[in-house]
Amino acid sequence: MSEQQSINHSIKVVDAFDLDDELRSLLKPGEMVRDAEGRRHRLPRYFYEIPNHEAAVSIRLTNHFGLNEFTLVDLKEAARLQQFPRYVPCAVRVLAFYLEQFRREAGASVHIPVNGGYRSPSHKRSLTATPHMWATAADIYRIGTTILKGKETIEKYNGIAEELSDDIHVLPYGHVTGATADDHIHFDLGYITVIPTEISEDRMEQPQESRPRFAFEDRRRRDRRTVDE
Ligand SMILES: [Zn+2]
Repeated sequence: MSEQQSINHSIKVVDAFDLDDELRSLLKPGEMVRDAEGRRHRLPRYFYEIPNHEAAVSIRLTNHFGLNEFTLVDLKEAARLQQFPRYVPCAVRVLAFYLEQFRREAGASVHIPVNGGYRSPSHKRSLTATPHMWATAADIYRIGTTILKGKETIEKYNGIAEELSDDIHVLPYGHVTGATADDHIHFDLGYITVIPTEISEDRMEQPQESRPRFAFEDRRRRDRRTVDE
């Protein structure tokens, strides 16, 4: 990593209403979606734009979490959303912050698998609204060398997560799809929408083609401006 790259780590923030038709139709900014209980939630509008693979792997959100860890997907995600530039809701940095605290309390590395972080509203697993579509949820199948299987292990780490903050929701151990989990921890912060300080909000919910809206979010802490392995 050259010094030039390490200091150039402000992240571009875009208003998804200004993206092209295909991206808008896949990301659905501002649209209302229902969760499994029928409650309505408004999808995020402000996204980080990840220009290329190099940026995806080099941008750190916290000491131990890189942006790319939240955006690993497979064919279940829309093809266009797997191509650069890629987009992830700005709330991902809040998730990374909480996972960093969780990692510290758990005492081992926290692994987010493919499809376990951000899933767009067009992802095949986005049948109803879940915080994964806000980039405020992570599915964790392994902590350190411990595979999360079985009631005792899952309840232990669920307990650690719940002790950390009332902001954190986990799914209880069990076998009911969507409402419980028996082979991972579903860790989420609810439906948080982040609007970075640097961008201007307005009510124009259509493309501003002559003057697309974007900003660059400053790296606010020195330890995030350099890569720390
Ligand atoms: Zn989940």
